[in-house]
Amino acid sequence: MSESDIVPFELQRMFLGDTDPLFLLEIVFRTVFIFLWLVFLLRVTGKRGLAQLSPLELAIVIGLGSAAGDPMFYPEVPLIHAMLVLALVVVLQRVLSVLVIHSERVETFVEGEPVELVRDGVIHPAALDRASLSREDLFEQLRVQGVRQLGEVQRVYFEQDGNLSVFCHDRDAPPGLGIVPPWDLEPPPPLPVGRPLSGQVACVSCGAVQKADRPLLPCACGGEGFTLATTDPLAPGESAGQDALPDHAAGHGPSGGPPGASER
Ligand SMILES: [Zn+2]
Repeated sequence: MSESDIVPFELQRMFLGDTDPLFLLEIVFRTVFIFLWLVFLLRVTGKRGLAQLSPLELAIVIGLGSAAGDPMFYPEVPLIHAMLVLALVVVLQRVLSVLVIHSERVETFVEGEPVELVRDGVIHPAALDRASLSREDLFEQLRVQGVRQLGEVQRVYFEQDGNLSVFCHDRDAPPGLGIVPPWDLEPPPPLPVGRPLSGQVACVSCGAVQKADRPLLPCACGGEGFTLATTDPLAPGESAGQDALPDHAAGHGPSGGPPGASER
């Protein structure tokens, strides 16, 4: 159909076009197919940055937007076709919403599952990958919640809606990996060279804490960098490489360790 063939306000063309009525059935198939494909793709691309909308809600926004736009100014798109698509998208959204409420399997497919990111101050690196979050993203979210070091954190879950829920010790948190100040501003201090360690050290990759006896065991996560574990990285003296557990420090003198020993 060329531009010159178009007669303005020709009702037959505007509403039905010149396609076979059976094509309406094909539209039903196409819409259902594309809508489900869209939900699936939005689901696997991850929820980060989309915390306001679930994959299902985003799919309906995209589906309605594109189906509503074309018939507005393409003369060859019949209105009936667009109306059918719009109605179908709404119906599909309602049907899937009901299924999500009633079926655990559909819910998991559409919305994913919560992922445990941190347990007792130790990060699960594989879980971070699954949530497509970087360690820096996680630290940033924890700082927003007022967390200073990972030892304060009992659990972090990446929820289905893309938010992190954080559960901390009420009091007496064990020492852990300091995340304040942000490492971009000030990286965690390396272990002191040439003097004995006391207290505990934390893996800078996962936050796992071990007793500060040289030689340090390699961390279970495969990380090789360590820093002193701290109960409060902002406490005076903590960030300067002081001991996190002063009780243990009492027995050690500055002259005990082999010079030059370093874990980094
Ligand atoms: Zn580690």
